[in-house]
Amino acid sequence: MLFNIAVLLATLVAMEGVGTLAHKYVMHGWGWWLHRSHHEPHLGVLETNDLYLVALALIAAGLMALGKAGYAPLQWVGAGVAGYGVLYVLAHDGFFHRHWPRKPKPMQRYLKRLYRAHRLHHAVKGREGSVSFGFFYAPPLRELKRQLRARRGD
Ligand SMILES: [Zn+2]
Ligand SMILES: [Zn+2]
Repeated sequence: MLFNIAVLLATLVAMEGVGTLAHKYVMHGWGWWLHRSHHEPHLGVLETNDLYLVALALIAAGLMALGKAGYAPLQWVGAGVAGYGVLYVLAHDGFFHRHWPRKPKPMQRYLKRLYRAHRLHHAVKGREGSVSFGFFYAPPLRELKRQLRARRGD
């Protein structure tokens, strides 16, 4: 049991790394056509960007199915991927973008930093030149602002 929990937690942590890289190099790279909707003003509840979430759910389901088929630890890797998806929706859609019925206010220091860092990510409208691609880890805000200034300068 303890091993399974360790696998689950390790997957959650690893997924932040995977998520950051995917956001930076896939979603702001060749996958921009799907992510673009998220960087433009939109009216509806759903965006094409949500297809990334569908892909994540399919990967999680696939891993869990493999786990059931005999590769036991993969079940917990799959659970970790699914758990990360849930946390992402809560943090990114609910908290950063206020898609919740009630508007939560970021009070805690860590949450404040995450929230502001994601605002800075959206300060750049296009595909290139953005900063802060993570969802649960954000570099110091001073550093992000410096990067933005440097990019505007050239
Ligand atoms: Zn983005
Ligand atoms: Zn966003």
